[in-house]
Amino acid sequence: MAYPGKEAVLGQVYALLVECRDCGNTHRFDIKELKQVGGSSSTKISDVSGRLYCSDCSSEGMAGKRVSVTAIFISERDRLKAEAYLINSREAHAREQRAKRVSPRSGRT
Ligand SMILES: [Zn+2]
Repeated sequence: MAYPGKEAVLGQVYALLVECRDCGNTHRFDIKELKQVGGSSSTKISDVSGRLYCSDCSSEGMAGKRVSVTAIFISERDRLKAEAYLINSREAHAREQRAKRVSPRSGRT
């Protein structure tokens, strides 16, 4: 993404989503868990992806290696946070408007 020509590394991601093509489950590996499987901030996502597997399938005795990995980049998380903030403030604004509409009438009675 933001680093053209360079492969993304774990230092840029917040978590990896591992979607299992066998059972359809999605597992989220936070950066802490990724470091537990031997990743560091400078490890390429493609390198650590090969070490990830579906824990549901592996507990059933299968390899659980038919997975597709999606990275959640830190910047995307910030964007989501910003969007969540916008939604929250919009809701707060609507609530304020409703309160204004109600109060003059209730004041008259
Ligand atoms: Zn699975």
